[in-house]
Amino acid sequence: MDKRIGFIGAGQMAEALARGFIAKGVCTADRIFATDVVAERKQVFRGFGTNPVDSNEEVVKSADVIFIAVKPQYVSVVLREVRPHLEDRHTIVSIAAGITLQSLKDAAGEVVRLVRVMPNTPCLVGETAAAMCLGGKADDSDADTVRRLFDAVGKIYRVDEKLLSAVTGLSGSGPAYVFLMIEALADGGVRAGLPRDIAQQLAAQTVLGSAKMVLETGKHPGALKDMVTSPAGTTIAGVHELEKAGVRAAFINAQLLLGQLGRAST
Ligand code: NAD
Repeated sequence: MDKRIGFIGAGQMAEALARGFIAKGVCTADRIFATDVVAERKQVFRGFGTNPVDSNEEVVKSADVIFIAVKPQYVSVVLREVRPHLEDRHTIVSIAAGITLQSLKDAAGEVVRLVRVMPNTPCLVGETAAAMCLGGKADDSDADTVRRLFDAVGKIYRVDEKLLSAVTGLSGSGPAYVFLMIEALADGGVRAGLPRDIAQQLAAQTVLGSAKMVLETGKHPGALKDMVTSPAGTTIAGVHELEKAGVRAAFINAQLLLGQLGRAST
């Protein structure tokens, strides 16, 4: 990509994104600029070949795509600070949870190209499930730029902003649900006599492999489930137990609840 990438806030997410872009070759390290109020974070960025700079203003002057990667409560502050230096070439990408396009626009100005992204924690291992929505003057070319970048660290889908709370309930909180599931699967293995470490590896690998089958075959998960449930077998007996416990409704209810909380807080 011929664009230069900037990070305001060089924390965990910024590092994961920058390393992913470099590893997948979408951007070379010398075209990445980052700043942080904590000096050690800039050293980390220097350590993998990118350019640490001294101020948020300098990031904006040096780069075209600017990631706002500070904690949500600081987003407006840094945007107001750099606002006088924003130009038409800039695409502002906020990854801050819960900060709406309207509040980004209020802080950065009406005429800015704004993209709001909701990534999730597996971004840290290059497997995020993210969604984006556009605001201000952003158009398909900005969406295309952001898609190319996020393809390096997982997958991204474009949605209307009103659906971002649903995305937060699914892929934002989803890792916590899956971690809980992996822990519970491992507990079951330990209950049946497996050593903890083997049980946990088997549980995590089972989730990874099953997710891969859904993504790679394109088959409905129900059809894949049918393929492993033989008549009167142990797997259908296990599925029956989960259905008795209301596992599907529990997943749906958890997301509904989060959607309501999300709407209440934004
Ligand atoms: P982090 O604390 O690791 O990074 C934020 C960095 O911003 C820190 O290094 C901090 O020193 C720096 N900072 C604070 N004020 C600054 C300022 N005025 N100018 C420049 N730098 C400043 O946090 P993180 O986990 O990387 O999260 C960053 C953003 O990503 C948050 O808004 C969060 O909502 C969003 N997010 C994170 C996750 C996740 O899994 N961590 C998932 C989804 C969204």
